[in-house]
Amino acid sequence: MAMKVWIDGQLVDNSDAKLSVYDHGTLYGDGVFEGIRVYSGRVFECKAHLTRLYASARALRLEIPYTAEQLEAAMYQTVKVNGFTDCYIRLVVTRGAGYLGLSPTKCPKPAVFCITDTIEMYPREMYEKGMAIITASVTRCHPNSIPPRVKSLNYLNNILAKIEANDAGVSEALLLNHEGNVAECTGDNIFVVRSGQVQTPTTSDGILEGITRSVILRLCGKLSIPCVEKTLQRFDIYAADECFLTGTAAEVIPVTKIDGRQISTGQVGPITRRLIEAFHKCVREA
Ligand code: PMP
Repeated sequence: MAMKVWIDGQLVDNSDAKLSVYDHGTLYGDGVFEGIRVYSGRVFECKAHLTRLYASARALRLEIPYTAEQLEAAMYQTVKVNGFTDCYIRLVVTRGAGYLGLSPTKCPKPAVFCITDTIEMYPREMYEKGMAIITASVTRCHPNSIPPRVKSLNYLNNILAKIEANDAGVSEALLLNHEGNVAECTGDNIFVVRSGQVQTPTTSDGILEGITRSVILRLCGKLSIPCVEKTLQRFDIYAADECFLTGTAAEVIPVTKIDGRQISTGQVGPITRRLIEAFHKCVREA
């Protein structure tokens, strides 16, 4: 049976879910999106994702032609019609069809669509043994350029970093910000553990404010694990006891090697294990 996609208020077969070639999402990457997970039939952190989507749109002066309630209903409707209880949702808002000039004034109606599917970011065994990453040569966007806090349809820096990872034979790449400090990986936030304290870059270090990141910070509080948001340098990762990445698609994945350097013993650390376990419990209970 063909999967259904919700597009501009209609559920259509995925092969019929199409955008105009004049859509500024296609022509210029002009749009915003969210990647969201459904666990046990519930849209995980639904409010947080919708808040971020509207905030991203506002930053781009893009007016979403639906209310948050309507988009929530559209997500549940798409999940249900495709018979999912656990899946990944891609909710996208583009500037809509316009003409071959940059100005959004020629795009009268944003396009909105919602895809539900399964996703596996990294091989299962990396979650057990940890993954190797490299530092990319590409810099995360300057905050006065497209702000990294906007989840926009322009992922070219991240794609270039991913290509560097592929070339190096690893699955992920770390981007540094314009000051040379640690920002994040291509689609995940980064954490380290040093002397029992969980540390992650601050929102002003050129990161997307990950929703999984905020869940992990909350879980640290609940488990009384000391945690802090602070500016990190590459050295802090080289010298870390533990390291892991967080993201909606990736969930929580340990990192055991960076730039050819083993992190501590090269084993997945105890705090990382505790947080992975707590995260899996939390998504089922949410
Ligand atoms: N950083 C970037 C650049 C991302 O694209 C994502 C989402 N894939 C994340 C971090 C993680 O954010 P979240 O936990 O909200 O998925």
